[in-house]
Amino acid sequence: MARYTDASCRLCRREGEKLFLKGQRCYTGKCALARRSFAPGQHGQGRKKTSEYGTQIREKQKAKRFYGVMETQFRNTYDKASRMKGKPGENLLMLLEMRFDNIIYRMGLAASRAEARQLVTHGHFTVNGKKADIPSMQLAVGDVVEVRETSRKSAKFQELNGRNVPAWLTFNDEALKGTVAQIPGRDDVDLEVKETLIVELYSK
Ligand code: SF4
Repeated sequence: MARYTDASCRLCRREGEKLFLKGQRCYTGKCALARRSFAPGQHGQGRKKTSEYGTQIREKQKAKRFYGVMETQFRNTYDKASRMKGKPGENLLMLLEMRFDNIIYRMGLAASRAEARQLVTHGHFTVNGKKADIPSMQLAVGDVVEVRETSRKSAKFQELNGRNVPAWLTFNDEALKGTVAQIPGRDDVDLEVKETLIVELYSK
């Protein structure tokens, strides 16, 4: 019998939700969650008993994995969010959306955030005309993202059809250039996450 061993898909199965970590595969019938909608491992189909703390942890893990951020960076982002005006949970999601790697993914230049991170570190883009290769960099409204001259001929950037660029970003396929038009709102985050539980967890 075939056994499912893919590490990324195990994360979705653990969270019981699609985290879109595998690009195109996530939109097909090959999605592991569509085929096995229970947690991985020997006790994956067992009875679930979750404490309040456990639920908070799961929400935090879900958001962390969705954006592909490690614990320390995620915590630092939360600390920054909690010092800003407004709701800390919504600020946290906004800061995660405004990461450079996420914006490359949202502009449709990569099939997944993991691929976006790789493309960024390989130096395929500029921000405001300067080479930028740090995935965690926070972009701001008005920033201009462009595929670098030396990368423009790559097949990757020549086949950008069928994407859905969110309204808070713009992207011109011919010029291979986009902008951050506005700050993303809570409704722009397409992840079923209860950010208030993450705030409760970190406020302890
Ligand atoms: Fe795997 Fe993508 Fe489905 Fe998640 S959404 S289980 S990463 S195929």
